[in-house]
Amino acid sequence: MTGLSNSAAVIREYDNKHYMHPWESMEDGRADRTISARAEGIYIYDQDGKKLIDGPGGMWCTQIGYGRQEIADAISEQVMQLSYHSPWNTASEPSALLARKLAELAPGDLNTVFFTTGGSTAVDTAMRFVHFYNNRLGRPDKKIVISRQKAYHGSTYLAASVTGKERSKSWFDIDTDQAHLLPDVNPNLRPEGMDLEAWCDLKVADLENAIIELGPDKVGAFIAEPILASGGVIIPPPGYHKKCLEVCHAHDVLYISDEVVTGFGRLGHWFASEDVFDIVPDMITCAKGLTSGYLPLGACLISDRILAPITGEGQEGVMFSNGYTYSGHPVSCAAALKNIEIMERENILQHVRDISPYFLERLNALGASPIIADTRGVGLVGCVEGRLTAGDESRLALDQKFGSRIDEKCEELGLIVRPLLNMCVFSPPLIITRQQIDDMFDILGRAIETLARETGES
Ligand code: PMP
Repeated sequence: MTGLSNSAAVIREYDNKHYMHPWESMEDGRADRTISARAEGIYIYDQDGKKLIDGPGGMWCTQIGYGRQEIADAISEQVMQLSYHSPWNTASEPSALLARKLAELAPGDLNTVFFTTGGSTAVDTAMRFVHFYNNRLGRPDKKIVISRQKAYHGSTYLAASVTGKERSKSWFDIDTDQAHLLPDVNPNLRPEGMDLEAWCDLKVADLENAIIELGPDKVGAFIAEPILASGGVIIPPPGYHKKCLEVCHAHDVLYISDEVVTGFGRLGHWFASEDVFDIVPDMITCAKGLTSGYLPLGACLISDRILAPITGEGQEGVMFSNGYTYSGHPVSCAAALKNIEIMERENILQHVRDISPYFLERLNALGASPIIADTRGVGLVGCVEGRLTAGDESRLALDQKFGSRIDEKCEELGLIVRPLLNMCVFSPPLIITRQQIDDMFDILGRAIETLARETGES
């Protein structure tokens, strides 16, 4: 039983002819994709009823797993109670309760929530807030947003402008005047003999030097993912975020923490900023795990400190003219509230903290293969980086295929991975058990072994 009403052939035909997917390849025409037919727990079933472990957790978002009746009930009740309301001039119970809940879960004084439709629009909102804030404070030139190579912040114009992944921007226009990229923070790139502390100081100096060179009167904000997720699970050196925050505040630059991936339990806490990296940023952007992917929703959280000078007395007639028809959509907010309730009741954050060392142990054991250059991870997110060339420059192109070749083999064996050029990343549903972690890494290990044999590296 696949649960599909149409044959796989019909679905494929329509999909190939009419649906332009994200990051659609323009070279191959439309690929014949696997059809996700139904899902339950950490498993997805394809068009033939084949069971696959969801290694990337959808797109880093299916925290509580698939097929939760309670979420379905919360959604259906909300649809019948109030399926939509205008967020411009009316309030609703789910959006008000969720805003309060997020303020409670968020670090420090981040007590105001602007709801968006996803992660890109959350980042876009944060960037527009930087413009608004500095215009209101009478410093219209203070707009540049500093970001980092390999960072991913989204697909809207502003979010793409501060994205540091070249492939995410190729052949598009971006706002080059208002975005500045810092060099890669990946500790693996540090010169031989340099310790992590010195690397941290160097990377923090990159930020401070950029602010000074561009001019503190021109730099409005710094945006950073706590760990660079789709850039390849890059974990900055200890103390990095805290020192960057100090630098930002010394130059009156806002610090935006992009927690679209790291929020809602991925690193064992509601937000990684404070509990893992010891910072209270000025803004946090989040989405994905907020609803466990059941419905689209994002949020931009804003601190009391930065709102204070631009609200209240003296602001007559001033509006923050940014918003979406679906801001604070009551059905999405009801799904998010139920998702958070389930995560609290089932103690999912503690589960992540308990199981993560085993996840990382199994991940790191893969490093023994001659075709694995590096393994790295934190919480329930991990990456294996391939090395197919083994020093042979002429075979370099092979490296770029490592992810897709592993992906192909894993899918045959019952595991979905997220291929990223020479890497595969993992961010399974947070409810994953020890046994399921074993199943996942057993399959990955077999795929790596087969590839090593095929490429003559074993
Ligand atoms: N920020 C980060 C850190 C992300 O990983 C993503 C999505 N992968 C986004 C923003 C954009 O989110 P969305 O795809 O929901 O627009």
